[in-house]
Formats: sequence, C-alpha cells, structure tokens
Amino acid sequence: MNKIIGKIKSLACLIFTKRRTDAGEGTEGLGERITTVTATLLELFDVKPPKNIEKASREVLNICDGKKIDRAVIYNPDAIAWWLFEKYKDRFEKAIEISDIYVQRASVMPSVTPVCFASMYTGLLPKYHGIRAYKKPVLKCKTIFDHMLENGKKCCIVSTSGDSISKIFLERDMDYFIYDSIEEVNQKALEVLDSDYDLVVIYNGNYDAKMHKFGPESEEAISALDENLEFYCKLIEKIKSSDKTTFFGFCSDHGCHEIDGECGSHGLDTYEDMNVVHIYGVS
Ligand SMILES: [Zn+2]
Repeated sequence: MNKIIGKIKSLACLIFTKRRTDAGEGTEGLGERITTVTATLLELFDVKPPKNIEKASREVLNICDGKKIDRAVIYNPDAIAWWLFEKYKDRFEKAIEISDIYVQRASVMPSVTPVCFASMYTGLLPKYHGIRAYKKPVLKCKTIFDHMLENGKKCCIVSTSGDSISKIFLERDMDYFIYDSIEEVNQKALEVLDSDYDLVVIYNGNYDAKMHKFGPESEEAISALDENLEFYCKLIEKIKSSDKTTFFGFCSDHGCHEIDGECGSHGLDTYEDMNVVHIYGVS
C-alpha cells in the first residue's frame, strides 16, 4: 500500500513540476496568462474556442459588454514588461486614457519571443504548441488565424522580416505584409485599417532591440517605448475615426531585465521576464 501511495505521490510531483516548469514559476500566484488572447478574440467574434485551449479572459470580454465587434486589431510591441509599465506609468497615460483597461499578464517559459507569441496566438502552453526554445518553425497546430479562417474571417499580419511573428504563422491563406523597417510596417498597419480585414496583427520589435543593446531603462530603450506608445495611440485614433466596432489591444510577449555590461535580456523564469502589460479597448 505504502509503495502504491509513494508511486502516486512521485507521479503527482512529476506532473506538478512539469506543469510549473512549462508555465513558469515567475508567474506563480499571479493573474491570467498571455494564452487567454486566442479564446478571448474567438469569443468576441462569436466563434466557439476549442476545448483544449486556455479560456477567454472574462475581464477583457466584459469591456465589450456583449457588443458585437466588426474587427480586432492587436498591436504587439516586444518585451514591454509589467515592471516597466509600473515604473514608467506616466508615459503610458495617453494609451491608458484612450483604452478601456490595462491588465498584468503572465508569460510562458522560456520567456523568449517565438515561444510566447506561439502561446498567445494558439492559446496553448509551449509543450502543446511545440516551440520550446528560440526557434521559429512554422506552427503545425491550429492558431487564431486558422480558427478565424475556418469561420470565414479575413486576417493579416504586418511585421518586420526575420522576426518571430513574420515566420511562425506562415503558410495560412491570409495576407502577410513583411517589411524591412518599422516605419514601413507602421505605415502599412494604418493603411490596412481601410481594408476589410477582421483580424489585424501588427508587430514592433524596436524596444526589445534597444533593450538588449543598451539596457531596459537606457535612453535608447525608453525612447523606443515612447515610439511604441505613440504609434499605438495613432492606431487607436484612426480606429476610433471609423464606423467599425473595433476591439483593440497592446499585447506584449515577455518582459526583460538588466544584465551586466548595461545590456538587457529575457528568457528567465523571473518576475521581471514573466510579467507583461496588456492594454485593451473597444471603439
Ligand atoms: Zn520578444
């Protein structure tokens, strides 16, 4: 009997450890994950989320108050940590004002870009979507884009070449607008708002790039953060000038921390790397 109990205990311990490792210990006791994004978007479009993915965020759905949305526009600035948001909240003032809510979101492990965006747009933890390291293969499992396309919705991604979002969601019957510079990406992002896309996903990696090179709170990185916030506000202004009821979000993938040599990094299972800010609203 004791042997059986011992076996059950060690099995439970193994499962528990595995789950914690995959989901990240730096998020222990904290709120909802970035994986809620997929089901939240699907529910907003009246598409039933598959049972195997993370449930939608009620808190975010509530801002739409049952309103039917015409489209969703998600802006993905890279590496905007929750601690950065809290410390530099005054810089987020306008973005907060023109949106409805901001929430703390837990990332996934390892907290690197392809792993996190795969989780955000599949609703799955890394062990289920399969990207578990800094690699950018095309995802074979179903993503938000597949669910949307199956329901007759039109999707596009606007991003910079070589980046995770530009690669892991390829090979779907949707539009990919991939450019060399962020300026071109952001110009195109504003243009596609005049088209009939149901889901628009936009990626900007400038904060992440400056953060790695000069440190998360360097003048260069903070100026990139300001650029991200300025563009988000510009995007929302244009969204609000249209008749379409649009759900919008500012959704980062993972956080960051300072390392020796005045550089920045992420990928660890720590509070700094595992907690991000998401801002949402509906027009
Ligand atoms: Zn990233």
